[in-house]
Amino acid sequence: MTRKRILTGDRPTYDSFHLGNYVGSLRNRVKLQDEYEMFIPIVDLHALTTYFDKTKQIEGNIRGLMLGYLSVGLDPEKVTFFIQSKVPEVLELAYFLSVLTPRPLIARQPALKEKLDQGFQDTVGLFYYPVLMAADILLVRANLVPVGKDQKAHVEYARDIAIKFNNTYGEVFPIPEPLIGEVPTLPGTDGQAKMGKSSGNAIFLTDSAEEVRKKVMGMYTDPARIHGDEPGDVENNPVFIYLDAFASQAGNKRHVTRTEQYKERYRKGTVKDVEVKEFLVEVLEEFLEPIRQRRTEFEKQPELINKILKEGTAKARKEAQQTLDLVRKAMKMEYF
Ligand code: ATP
Ligand code: MG
Repeated sequence: MTRKRILTGDRPTYDSFHLGNYVGSLRNRVKLQDEYEMFIPIVDLHALTTYFDKTKQIEGNIRGLMLGYLSVGLDPEKVTFFIQSKVPEVLELAYFLSVLTPRPLIARQPALKEKLDQGFQDTVGLFYYPVLMAADILLVRANLVPVGKDQKAHVEYARDIAIKFNNTYGEVFPIPEPLIGEVPTLPGTDGQAKMGKSSGNAIFLTDSAEEVRKKVMGMYTDPARIHGDEPGDVENNPVFIYLDAFASQAGNKRHVTRTEQYKERYRKGTVKDVEVKEFLVEVLEEFLEPIRQRRTEFEKQPELINKILKEGTAKARKEAQQTLDLVRKAMKMEYF
Protein backbone atom coordinates (compact mmCIF):
# COMPACT_ATOMS: atom_id res chain seq x y z
CA MET A 1 0.00 0.00 0.00
CA THR A 2 1.27 3.46 -0.80
CA ARG A 3 1.86 5.69 2.17
CA LYS A 4 -0.30 8.73 2.76
CA ARG A 5 1.26 12.07 2.05
CA ILE A 6 2.09 15.10 4.10
CA LEU A 7 2.88 18.52 2.74
CA THR A 8 3.74 21.54 4.83
CA GLY A 9 6.09 24.40 4.16
CA ASP A 10 7.73 27.45 5.68
CA ARG A 11 8.29 30.99 4.48
CA PRO A 12 11.96 31.95 4.15
CA THR A 13 11.34 35.22 5.97
CA TYR A 14 14.15 34.56 8.47
CA ASP A 15 17.14 32.23 8.60
CA SER A 16 15.92 30.15 11.51
CA PHE A 17 12.87 28.61 13.16
CA HIS A 18 11.37 29.73 16.44
CA LEU A 19 9.72 27.91 19.32
CA GLY A 20 6.27 28.53 17.81
CA ASN A 21 7.20 26.89 14.51
CA TYR A 22 8.50 23.96 16.50
CA VAL A 23 5.45 23.27 18.67
CA GLY A 24 2.95 24.25 15.97
CA SER A 25 4.33 22.17 13.14
CA LEU A 26 7.94 20.91 13.19
CA ARG A 27 7.34 18.60 16.16
CA ASN A 28 4.57 16.78 14.25
CA ARG A 29 6.73 16.57 11.15
CA VAL A 30 9.56 14.91 13.04
CA LYS A 31 7.09 12.51 14.61
CA LEU A 32 5.38 11.56 11.34
CA GLN A 33 8.31 11.36 8.91
CA ASP A 34 8.48 7.54 9.13
CA GLU A 35 4.79 6.95 8.73
CA TYR A 36 4.03 9.33 5.85
CA GLU A 37 5.62 10.30 2.57
CA MET A 38 6.57 13.87 3.45
CA PHE A 39 7.11 16.92 1.22
CA ILE A 40 8.46 20.16 2.63
CA PRO A 41 8.63 23.13 0.27
CA ILE A 42 10.42 26.28 1.31
CA VAL A 43 7.79 28.66 0.03
CA ASP A 44 9.77 31.56 -1.38
CA LEU A 45 6.83 32.80 -3.46
CA HIS A 46 4.82 33.28 -0.27
CA ALA A 47 7.77 35.10 1.29
CA LEU A 48 7.55 37.68 -1.49
CA THR A 49 4.32 39.07 -0.03
CA THR A 50 6.45 40.30 2.89
CA TYR A 51 9.85 40.48 1.24
CA PHE A 52 9.32 41.80 -2.28
CA ASP A 53 11.90 44.50 -1.54
CA LYS A 54 14.31 42.22 0.32
CA THR A 55 14.67 39.38 -2.14
CA LYS A 56 18.43 39.26 -1.68
CA GLN A 57 17.88 37.89 1.82
CA ILE A 58 15.78 34.97 0.68
CA GLU A 59 18.64 32.74 -0.43
CA GLY A 60 20.41 32.96 2.92
CA ASN A 61 17.13 32.35 4.71
CA ILE A 62 16.55 29.21 2.66
CA ARG A 63 19.92 27.83 3.76
CA GLY A 64 19.14 28.72 7.36
CA LEU A 65 15.78 26.93 7.28
CA MET A 66 17.41 23.85 5.73
CA LEU A 67 19.94 23.79 8.58
CA GLY A 68 16.97 24.15 10.92
CA TYR A 69 15.19 21.11 9.46
CA LEU A 70 18.28 18.96 9.73
CA SER A 71 19.09 20.10 13.25
CA VAL A 72 15.64 19.26 14.64
CA GLY A 73 15.95 15.77 13.21
CA LEU A 74 14.15 15.77 9.86
CA ASP A 75 15.86 13.19 7.69
CA PRO A 76 16.45 13.96 3.99
CA GLU A 77 16.35 10.23 3.30
CA LYS A 78 12.71 10.31 4.33
CA VAL A 79 11.58 13.84 3.49
CA THR A 80 11.52 15.59 0.11
CA PHE A 81 12.71 19.17 0.62
CA PHE A 82 12.25 21.56 -2.29
CA ILE A 83 12.02 25.19 -3.35
CA GLN A 84 8.52 26.29 -4.24
CA SER A 85 9.46 28.61 -7.13
CA LYS A 86 11.65 25.93 -8.71
CA VAL A 87 8.54 23.80 -9.25
CA PRO A 88 6.69 26.26 -11.48
CA GLU A 89 3.84 23.78 -12.05
CA VAL A 90 2.49 25.17 -8.78
CA LEU A 91 1.60 28.41 -10.56
CA GLU A 92 -0.13 26.57 -13.38
CA LEU A 93 -2.20 24.61 -10.88
CA ALA A 94 -2.94 27.77 -8.88
CA TYR A 95 -4.43 29.35 -11.97
CA PHE A 96 -6.65 26.34 -12.67
CA LEU A 97 -7.80 26.46 -9.05
CA SER A 98 -8.33 30.21 -9.07
CA VAL A 99 -11.05 30.05 -11.70
CA LEU A 100 -13.02 27.75 -9.38
CA THR A 101 -12.48 29.80 -6.23
CA PRO A 102 -15.25 32.25 -5.35
CA ARG A 103 -13.69 35.67 -4.93
CA PRO A 104 -15.90 36.59 -1.93
CA LEU A 105 -14.69 33.48 -0.08
CA ILE A 106 -11.09 34.66 -0.38
CA ALA A 107 -12.04 38.26 0.33
CA ARG A 108 -13.34 37.16 3.74
CA GLN A 109 -10.05 35.54 4.83
CA PRO A 110 -9.25 36.80 8.33
CA ALA A 111 -5.50 36.64 7.65
CA LEU A 112 -5.85 39.26 4.91
CA LYS A 113 -7.37 41.84 7.21
CA GLU A 114 -4.75 41.10 9.88
CA LYS A 115 -1.93 41.55 7.40
CA LEU A 116 -3.34 44.78 6.03
CA ASP A 117 -3.66 46.05 9.62
CA GLN A 118 0.02 45.15 10.10
CA GLY A 119 0.92 47.37 7.19
CA PHE A 120 1.37 44.81 4.41
CA GLN A 121 0.95 46.21 0.90
CA ASP A 122 -2.54 45.55 -0.41
CA THR A 123 -1.48 43.63 -3.51
CA VAL A 124 -3.10 41.05 -5.77
CA GLY A 125 -0.37 38.62 -4.64
CA LEU A 126 -1.34 38.98 -0.99
CA PHE A 127 -5.01 38.46 -1.86
CA TYR A 128 -4.12 35.38 -3.90
CA TYR A 129 -2.15 33.75 -1.05
CA PRO A 130 -4.81 31.14 -0.14
CA VAL A 131 -5.12 29.96 -3.75
CA LEU A 132 -1.37 29.52 -4.08
CA MET A 133 -1.28 27.69 -0.77
CA ALA A 134 -4.08 25.39 -1.93
CA ALA A 135 -1.97 24.69 -5.02
CA ASP A 136 1.07 23.89 -2.82
CA ILE A 137 -0.93 21.26 -0.98
CA LEU A 138 -2.81 19.80 -3.94
CA LEU A 139 0.27 19.75 -6.18
CA VAL A 140 1.54 16.61 -4.46
CA ARG A 141 -1.98 15.36 -3.66
CA ALA A 142 -1.32 15.59 0.07
CA ASN A 143 -3.61 14.01 2.65
CA LEU A 144 -2.39 15.75 5.78
CA VAL A 145 -1.01 19.24 6.49
CA PRO A 146 0.67 19.79 9.88
CA VAL A 147 0.37 23.50 10.63
CA GLY A 148 -0.11 25.94 13.48
CA LYS A 149 -3.62 27.18 14.15
CA ASP A 150 -2.94 30.41 12.25
CA GLN A 151 -2.82 28.36 9.03
CA LYS A 152 -5.89 26.23 9.68
CA ALA A 153 -8.23 28.47 7.70
CA HIS A 154 -5.87 28.24 4.73
CA VAL A 155 -5.96 24.46 4.78
CA GLU A 156 -9.74 24.72 4.85
CA TYR A 157 -9.60 26.78 1.66
CA ALA A 158 -7.54 24.03 0.10
CA ARG A 159 -10.20 21.51 1.15
CA ASP A 160 -13.04 23.59 -0.31
CA ILE A 161 -11.13 24.14 -3.53
CA ALA A 162 -10.23 20.44 -3.86
CA ILE A 163 -13.88 19.47 -3.37
CA LYS A 164 -14.95 22.00 -5.97
CA PHE A 165 -12.38 20.72 -8.46
CA ASN A 166 -13.36 17.08 -7.92
CA ASN A 167 -17.06 17.88 -8.27
CA THR A 168 -16.46 19.87 -11.42
CA TYR A 169 -13.99 17.71 -13.33
CA GLY A 170 -13.82 14.34 -11.55
CA GLU A 171 -11.82 12.93 -8.66
CA VAL A 172 -8.20 14.03 -8.84
CA PHE A 173 -7.40 15.27 -5.34
CA PRO A 174 -7.62 13.69 -1.92
CA ILE A 175 -9.27 16.13 0.49
CA PRO A 176 -6.44 17.36 2.75
CA GLU A 177 -6.83 17.50 6.52
CA PRO A 178 -5.08 20.01 8.79
CA LEU A 179 -3.12 18.61 11.72
CA ILE A 180 -2.73 21.27 14.40
CA GLY A 181 0.15 21.04 16.87
CA GLU A 182 -0.29 20.25 20.56
CA VAL A 183 0.20 23.97 21.18
CA PRO A 184 -2.02 25.50 18.47
CA THR A 185 -0.54 29.02 18.72
CA LEU A 186 2.46 29.87 20.85
CA PRO A 187 2.31 33.49 22.02
CA GLY A 188 5.19 35.90 21.53
CA THR A 189 7.64 36.90 24.26
CA ASP A 190 5.85 40.28 24.20
CA GLY A 191 2.48 38.74 25.06
CA GLN A 192 1.12 39.08 21.51
CA ALA A 193 -1.13 36.17 20.58
CA LYS A 194 1.35 34.72 18.07
CA MET A 195 5.10 34.39 17.96
CA GLY A 196 6.20 35.08 14.39
CA LYS A 197 9.43 34.98 12.36
CA SER A 198 8.80 38.49 11.17
CA SER A 199 7.17 39.88 14.34
CA GLY A 200 10.24 40.60 16.51
CA ASN A 201 8.84 38.57 19.41
CA ALA A 202 10.41 35.17 18.85
CA ILE A 203 12.91 32.92 20.57
CA PHE A 204 14.80 31.22 17.76
CA LEU A 205 16.27 27.73 17.82
CA THR A 206 19.57 29.39 16.92
CA ASP A 207 19.61 32.00 19.70
CA SER A 208 22.65 31.67 21.96
CA ALA A 209 22.21 30.74 25.61
CA GLU A 210 22.73 34.41 26.54
CA GLU A 211 20.14 35.60 24.01
CA VAL A 212 17.61 33.06 25.27
CA ARG A 213 18.20 34.18 28.86
CA LYS A 214 17.83 37.82 27.94
CA LYS A 215 14.60 37.23 26.01
CA VAL A 216 13.10 35.07 28.76
CA MET A 217 14.01 37.56 31.49
CA GLY A 218 12.30 40.31 29.48
CA MET A 219 9.19 38.23 28.84
CA TYR A 220 5.70 39.45 29.40
CA THR A 221 3.95 37.59 32.25
CA ASP A 222 0.77 38.55 34.08
CA PRO A 223 0.45 42.32 33.59
CA ALA A 224 -1.92 42.64 36.57
CA ARG A 225 0.65 41.24 39.00
CA ILE A 226 3.06 43.83 40.30
CA HIS A 227 4.71 42.08 43.27
CA GLY A 228 5.85 38.47 43.70
CA ASP A 229 3.65 38.04 46.76
CA GLU A 230 0.40 38.60 44.85
CA PRO A 231 -1.59 35.73 43.35
CA GLY A 232 -1.00 35.57 39.58
CA ASP A 233 -2.62 34.20 36.43
CA VAL A 234 -1.09 31.03 35.01
CA GLU A 235 -3.46 30.26 32.12
CA ASN A 236 -2.74 33.26 29.91
CA ASN A 237 0.81 33.71 31.05
CA PRO A 238 3.34 33.10 28.24
CA VAL A 239 5.99 31.88 30.71
CA PHE A 240 3.74 29.04 31.83
CA ILE A 241 2.51 28.37 28.31
CA TYR A 242 6.16 27.89 27.25
CA LEU A 243 6.79 25.66 30.27
CA ASP A 244 3.81 23.49 29.38
CA ALA A 245 5.02 23.28 25.80
CA PHE A 246 8.63 22.34 26.58
CA ALA A 247 8.83 20.77 30.04
CA SER A 248 7.92 17.35 28.66
CA GLN A 249 9.97 17.77 25.47
CA ALA A 250 12.99 15.78 26.62
CA GLY A 251 10.70 13.25 28.32
CA ASN A 252 11.85 14.80 31.58
CA LYS A 253 9.18 14.03 34.21
CA ARG A 254 11.00 16.09 36.80
CA HIS A 255 10.46 19.26 34.75
CA VAL A 256 6.76 18.50 34.39
CA THR A 257 6.38 18.04 38.16
CA ARG A 258 8.31 21.24 38.87
CA THR A 259 6.13 23.13 36.41
CA GLU A 260 3.01 22.02 38.29
CA GLN A 261 4.60 23.09 41.59
CA TYR A 262 5.46 26.51 40.23
CA LYS A 263 1.93 26.95 38.90
CA GLU A 264 0.52 26.24 42.35
CA ARG A 265 2.88 28.69 44.00
CA TYR A 266 2.23 31.34 41.35
CA ARG A 267 -1.51 31.11 41.86
CA LYS A 268 -0.97 31.58 45.60
CA GLY A 269 1.57 34.38 45.20
CA THR A 270 4.51 32.59 46.80
CA VAL A 271 6.98 32.77 43.92
CA LYS A 272 8.50 35.65 42.01
CA ASP A 273 8.43 35.91 38.19
CA VAL A 274 12.21 35.81 38.08
CA GLU A 275 12.42 32.38 39.73
CA VAL A 276 9.93 30.87 37.27
CA LYS A 277 11.84 32.50 34.42
CA GLU A 278 15.12 30.99 35.64
CA PHE A 279 13.45 27.61 35.50
CA LEU A 280 12.15 28.27 31.98
CA VAL A 281 15.69 29.14 30.85
CA GLU A 282 16.87 25.79 32.23
CA VAL A 283 14.10 23.87 30.44
CA LEU A 284 14.67 25.66 27.13
CA GLU A 285 18.43 25.17 27.28
CA GLU A 286 17.98 21.45 27.68
CA PHE A 287 15.90 21.45 24.51
CA LEU A 288 17.97 23.92 22.48
CA GLU A 289 21.56 22.95 23.18
CA PRO A 290 21.52 19.62 21.27
CA ILE A 291 19.81 21.36 18.34
CA ARG A 292 22.53 24.05 18.24
CA GLN A 293 25.22 21.39 18.30
CA ARG A 294 23.70 19.48 15.42
CA ARG A 295 23.38 22.69 13.44
CA THR A 296 27.07 23.43 13.94
CA GLU A 297 27.87 19.99 12.54
CA PHE A 298 25.71 20.52 9.44
CA GLU A 299 27.17 23.98 8.88
CA LYS A 300 30.49 22.26 8.22
CA GLN A 301 28.98 20.58 5.12
CA PRO A 302 27.86 23.47 2.87
CA GLU A 303 27.44 21.24 -0.20
CA LEU A 304 25.00 18.96 1.58
CA ILE A 305 22.15 21.47 1.47
CA ASN A 306 22.50 22.12 -2.26
CA LYS A 307 22.46 18.40 -2.89
CA ILE A 308 19.35 17.82 -0.75
CA LEU A 309 17.48 20.70 -2.38
CA LYS A 310 18.47 19.77 -5.93
CA GLU A 311 17.43 16.16 -5.53
CA GLY A 312 14.26 17.08 -3.63
CA THR A 313 13.24 19.69 -6.17
CA ALA A 314 13.72 17.24 -9.06
CA LYS A 315 11.58 14.68 -7.27
CA ALA A 316 8.86 17.19 -6.38
CA ARG A 317 8.81 18.43 -9.94
CA LYS A 318 8.21 14.94 -11.29
CA GLU A 319 5.37 14.52 -8.84
CA ALA A 320 3.95 17.91 -9.83
CA GLN A 321 4.05 17.03 -13.51
CA GLN A 322 2.12 13.85 -12.82
CA THR A 323 -0.52 15.85 -10.96
CA LEU A 324 -0.77 18.37 -13.79
CA ASP A 325 -1.19 15.50 -16.27
CA LEU A 326 -4.11 14.23 -14.19
CA VAL A 327 -5.54 17.74 -13.92
CA ARG A 328 -5.35 18.45 -17.66
CA LYS A 329 -6.81 15.07 -18.44
CA ALA A 330 -9.72 15.63 -16.03
CA MET A 331 -10.27 19.11 -17.50
CA LYS A 332 -10.09 17.78 -21.09
CA MET A 333 -7.26 20.16 -21.79
CA GLU A 334 -4.65 17.72 -23.06
CA TYR A 335 -5.28 18.70 -26.72
CA PHE A 336 -2.50 16.58 -28.26
P1 ATP B 1 6.06 34.90 9.34
O1 ATP B 1 5.95 35.81 10.55
O2 ATP B 1 7.07 35.37 8.36
O3 ATP B 1 4.73 34.57 8.72
P2 ATP B 1 5.93 32.51 10.92
O4 ATP B 1 6.67 32.53 12.19
O5 ATP B 1 4.45 32.70 10.99
O6 ATP B 1 6.63 33.53 9.94
P3 ATP B 1 5.64 30.55 8.83
O7 ATP B 1 6.79 30.17 7.96
O8 ATP B 1 4.61 31.51 8.31
O9 ATP B 1 6.25 31.13 10.20
O10 ATP B 1 4.90 29.25 9.34
C1 ATP B 1 5.56 28.00 9.47
C2 ATP B 1 4.71 27.06 10.30
O11 ATP B 1 4.80 27.41 11.68
C3 ATP B 1 3.21 27.10 9.96
O12 ATP B 1 2.71 25.78 10.05
C4 ATP B 1 2.63 27.96 11.04
O13 ATP B 1 1.26 27.66 11.29
C5 ATP B 1 3.50 27.58 12.22
N1 ATP B 1 3.56 28.65 13.21
C6 ATP B 1 4.07 29.89 13.01
N2 ATP B 1 4.02 30.61 14.14
C7 ATP B 1 3.44 29.81 15.08
C8 ATP B 1 3.13 29.98 16.47
N3 ATP B 1 3.37 31.12 17.10
N4 ATP B 1 2.56 28.93 17.13
C9 ATP B 1 2.31 27.77 16.49
N5 ATP B 1 2.61 27.54 15.20
C10 ATP B 1 3.16 28.55 14.50
MG1 MG C 1 3.34 32.99 9.13
